[in-house]
Order: sequence, then structure tokens, then C-alpha cells
Amino acid sequence: MLSEFELVRRYFGRAAPSALLGVGDDAAIMRPTPGAELAFATDLLLEGRHFRPHDDPRALGHKALAVNLSDMAAMGARPRWALLAIALPEADEAWLAAFAEGLYALAARFGVDLVGGDTTRGPRTLCVAILGEVPAGEALRRAGARPGDDVWVSGELGGAALALARPSEADADAARRLAAPEPRVALGERLRGLASSAIDVSDGFAQDLGHILAASGVRARVRYEALPRHAALERPGVDEALRRRCVLAGGDDYELVFTAAPAARAAIEEVGRALGVRLSRVGTIEIGAPQLAIVDARGAPIEPPRGFDHFAA
Ligand code: ADP
Ligand code: MG
Repeated sequence: MLSEFELVRRYFGRAAPSALLGVGDDAAIMRPTPGAELAFATDLLLEGRHFRPHDDPRALGHKALAVNLSDMAAMGARPRWALLAIALPEADEAWLAAFAEGLYALAARFGVDLVGGDTTRGPRTLCVAILGEVPAGEALRRAGARPGDDVWVSGELGGAALALARPSEADADAARRLAAPEPRVALGERLRGLASSAIDVSDGFAQDLGHILAASGVRARVRYEALPRHAALERPGVDEALRRRCVLAGGDDYELVFTAAPAARAAIEEVGRALGVRLSRVGTIEIGAPQLAIVDARGAPIEPPRGFDHFAA
């Protein structure tokens, strides 16, 4: 049986060239880029709540890091270093090798080094913490949306939620979005200086935009028809109620919702073209108490279904 220390060395001990000191001491040591501010976030994935016991471990390694990269994207930060705290029921080497492969592959693509963590026996739990950098004063916050700003969404919404709610209707792309989301890191970085606020869609468009509205003290009017929906939602087996639920309240898409002044439209469209990311203008920020009005093609209000809340009654 593999010891804890052997396990860490074998699966999570790869070199971390960007750190002064990586895995193996009591703490990792990094030197921040002069002039940068640090952005720090963590996300916890629990078996039975965020993933199922037999989910592909390679995809889990990807997702545990991807959800954290998405938080960096939403701040306009460049992700640099990650920590992994992991609880496992046993030292299953096939599982560990695949998990580490998925995590390191995504980390390499985004230039992130795994610099430490913690390992313990217990119900399978995956907790990554991430540290990123952003030029001083330029982070994209939730507070910052101003009346008159446009509301934008990247990519398409609802694919991951469809794959969760109705796997038989999900195409390969929707299934991939749920299992192994692609964080919008490059987009977040390019939006610095253009967006007035940003958030990533982890718990559903309506709820996550609601956080921007609450933090900014403004209201928004969004045209439902303008929301970019995942192609699988157009399948005949998906009715309008399910489609709405996936688009408005579906979590796990990890797209960015952001606001920007109309003067930034051309520059934002250029960013979308340069990155090959679809960017849709879906509504407007207005003066008023924080509230989201979603309207259909005739201007009639649509009641948004509730997004995900771990503690909702
Ligand atoms: P401590 O007793 O100080 O918690 P550990 O023995 O748990 O130290 O960890 C030894 C080293 O291994 C530390 O550098 C720690 O960051 C690293 N480490 C432990 N678990 C992991 C993991 N799952 N992924 C990456 N590094 C890990
Ligand atoms: Mg420890």
C-alpha cells in the first residue's frame, strides 16, 4: 500500500518551475510579478454533490482546476499557482494517475504550477486553491456595472445543465461542457480595461448576473431571445420549459457574464474575433434597485427559474 508521502511524490510532485519552492516543504514560496496584485480563490468539489463516484477521474482532475481557473477569468487575472487539498477513500493508483493527468494537462495549458496541497483519507473530496496575478487596480469586480452599460455573455448557455438534467438529449459538446469545462481565461484577461464588471456562470445566468446587480446597485433588462443557447437545446426532445431552465438557471457553463459601456462595443467585438469566442450583447443596465427583468420577443416579462443554491429550502 502506498504511503501518503509516496502518493504525493508520485502523483503530485511534478516540478513547479515558476515557484522558488514547490511541493516538499511546509509551504511553497513564490515571487509575485512586481506591480501585480494577487487574486486568490478556492473551490470545493464533493463526491455525491458535485460529481458521481464513477465519473472519469481524468475529467475530474480537469474540472477541479477548471472551476478555479474560471474564477481567475472572472477577475481578469492571470492564473499562476495552485494548491490541491484532496481526501480519498483509498490510494487507488489507476484513479490517481488519471486524475493527476487531467489536472496537470490543464495546468500546463494555462501556465499554472501545482505548488503544494494536503492529502488525507476520507470521503472523496477535491479542493483546489488558486493564486493569480492582475495589474494593480485592474481586476474585474462584480461591483462596477453602471446604468447604460451593455450586458454581454460569452459562448453559449445551458449545455452543461442539459447534460446533467437530460443526458439522453445532450450532444458530445454539451456532455464535455459538464464533465470538462473550458475556462475563459484569455477572454477575462482581454476584458481588463473594457468591462465594468464580470462574473463566471457557475450557478445559472440569472442568479450570477443577479450578483453583479446586487454588488453594483443597479437593475438590468435582458432580452431572452438574445441569450446565446447551446445547440443541443434546439433538439426536438427539449421542450421550452426545459430550454428556459437550462439557459436561465443552468449551472456549470463557466462562461463569463460582463458589463461594459457602449463605447467599448467595437473593442469587445474585436476581442471576440481575435479569440474565436462568440460574444453576445443581451441586455442593458438601468438605474434602479437590484433586479433582473427578462423579457420575451414581445417585451413581456419572463419569470427566471431559480439558480443553484446549496442551502436553498
Ligand atoms: P504538512 O504536514 O506540513 O501538512 P504534508 O506532509 O501534508 O505537510 O505535505 C508535504 C508536502 O507535500 C507539502 O509541500 C505539501 O504542500 C505537499 N502536498 C501534500 N499533499 C499534496 C497534494 N495533494 N498535492 C500537491 N502537493 C501536496
Ligand atoms: Mg498536510
